[in-house]
Amino acid sequence: MQGWEDSDDSASSSEADAWDTEADVSCPYCGEGVTIGLDPGGGQVQAYVEDCEVCCRPWRVHVRYDDRGAAEVEVEPA
Ligand SMILES: [Zn+2]
Repeated sequence: MQGWEDSDDSASSSEADAWDTEADVSCPYCGEGVTIGLDPGGGQVQAYVEDCEVCCRPWRVHVRYDDRGAAEVEVEPA
């Protein structure tokens, strides 16, 4: 898989740079699609509570990064 990082400076090979910093989720209450910000520095597996931007109800957010830095995000009613 070469060619993906050609535009990037090869000196900056920090894997953390490639980790997802946002994810699209659907609110379990109102069903709206919302893009949420993620914090890769929080660890490979995270769980926290965040309020829906649309209906302001609390989600329980589960984030898991795979080996490539792709975030798998689930939200459920908190
Ligand atoms: Zn909502």
